[in-house]
Amino acid sequence: MADTTSASCLFCRIAQRQAPSRVVYEDDEVIVFHDIHPAAPVHLLLVPKQHIDSLTEASSDQQLLLGKMLLLAPQLAREQGATDGFRLIVNNGRGGGQEVLHLHFHVLGGPRPWRHMSVGR
Ligand code: AMP
Ligand code: ZN
Repeated sequence: MADTTSASCLFCRIAQRQAPSRVVYEDDEVIVFHDIHPAAPVHLLLVPKQHIDSLTEASSDQQLLLGKMLLLAPQLAREQGATDGFRLIVNNGRGGGQEVLHLHFHVLGGPRPWRHMSVGR
C-alpha cells in the first residue's frame, strides 16, 4: 500500500480536486461522489483520500477510517434519496472485478428497477 497520493490514480486526483466529480460529502479523510456510470438511481462512491489499493492492502492503521466509511454509508445513502435501504459493494482486486485500484465502497439505492444488480464485471 502506498501511503501517499498518486498522480496516476484517478481517485487520488478526484480527492485532490484535480479531476472533476460530483461531490456530495468531503472531510479530511474521505470524499464521496456520484459514480459516473450509475447502476442505480443513487450510486455513490465512498473513497478514502489516502491511497489504499484495496481492502487487501488495508491494515489496522486504517481501522478507524474504515469504520467511519461504513458508518457514513447509511447516512449519505439516506441523504441522497435511498430511503428504503441500500446495497454496499466493495470490489476487491482484479479477481473481484475492481477496475479502479484505489479502495472505494459502492453505495447503491433508490427506487427500482436498477440498471444493474451489481457493479463491475
Ligand atoms: P470498480 O469496478 O469497483 O473499481 O468501480 C469503479 C467505478 O468507478 C465504476 O463504477 C465506474 O463507473 C466509476 N468511475 C470511473 N471513473 C469515474 C469518474 N471519473 N468519476 C466517477 N466515477 C467513476
Ligand atoms: Zn489513489
